[in-house]
Amino acid sequence: MQPQDDSTKRQSILDMSEHELADLLAELGQPAFRAKQIRSWVWEKGATSFDQMTNLPKSLREQLAQRCDLGGVTEVARQESADGSRKYLVRYGDGTAVECVGMPTKSRLTVCASTQAGCGMQCAFCATGASGLTRSLTAGEIYQQVLHVRDDFDARITGVVMMGQGEPFANYEQTLAALRRLNDPNGMGIGARHLTVSTCGIIPMITRFSKEPEQFTLAVSLHSAVQRTRDALMPGVKRYSLLRLYDAMGEYANRTGRRPTYEYALIKGVNDTDEELAYLCDFCRNTLCHVNLIQLNDVSGSRFQPSSPERANTFVRRLTSVGVEATIRNSRGADIDAACGQLRQRLG
Ligand code: SAH
Repeated sequence: MQPQDDSTKRQSILDMSEHELADLLAELGQPAFRAKQIRSWVWEKGATSFDQMTNLPKSLREQLAQRCDLGGVTEVARQESADGSRKYLVRYGDGTAVECVGMPTKSRLTVCASTQAGCGMQCAFCATGASGLTRSLTAGEIYQQVLHVRDDFDARITGVVMMGQGEPFANYEQTLAALRRLNDPNGMGIGARHLTVSTCGIIPMITRFSKEPEQFTLAVSLHSAVQRTRDALMPGVKRYSLLRLYDAMGEYANRTGRRPTYEYALIKGVNDTDEELAYLCDFCRNTLCHVNLIQLNDVSGSRFQPSSPERANTFVRRLTSVGVEATIRNSRGADIDAACGQLRQRLG
């Protein structure tokens, strides 16, 4: 790739603040209402070229094309599951590639989006964790994954989960900015409760998230309520103890009144034992939460195996018996490498 001279470097219009866009238009001698028209093309319609912006004067379109860039992603691979889920590997202008998934049901279409290319958290069972962090994505880049899925299905997106590659709370500002755009009626207009962030448990950011005014949904990857097991499975969050997580989640529930989800991928002989189950019950009992038991997705070369369905049922029964809501998440797209990072890994 040619090194780019700063003077010719074009700024992504999706990552311009309202202020920056207003300044640019003023500099070009344009009336302020152009900003609204441009934002509508970028955020609602998902324009891929300035030429599509037919309600702008041609001269302005040309000036914008010289100064700015519309970002845009290129699909480099896709897989479709028998259950209708579609998984995409999309590439940004600098060559960085991430995965996103569209998961349709009869009346809904949920997108699983990535917040980083790669991930620095090193969870032992995760395909993305194995390859490390490439870089964080901008809000515009996160948003564009959702636009890509919307356009491919040609359907309204009803929910987004930040459960693709990366740790959203290691890229807090950009993730929040993307969520706000997805929520904005002039963006995608998705209800805040249908916008979910999943974190491996970065406590200061859980606290910060609990103070945001929107009713976004929080999921925390727990995977074990036994400190030494969790430390081994999720070394990236070792410094945030379960005790502190417990307290932070209590505060989150008190402050927001919302029910967080704990994700728990059942791994044979590791976190599915009777002792682990007892600790999990203790961690969740008398707290506002929902436990999502996930079938571990096979990651090639992994030393971990999924638990049996009977074991998952035992977990649900026992949690329910102590008053904790628990469900087994039906695994979407298991036939298309839909587990975290697998498509990217396979394509190298
Ligand atoms: N970094 C965030 C979100 C990305 S991963 C987080 O940790 O929550 C989304 C979910 O998939 C997390 O709960 C993660 O632990 C889980 N996951 C990763 N690899 C998996 C695998 N092989 N099988 C099942 N779940 C997996």
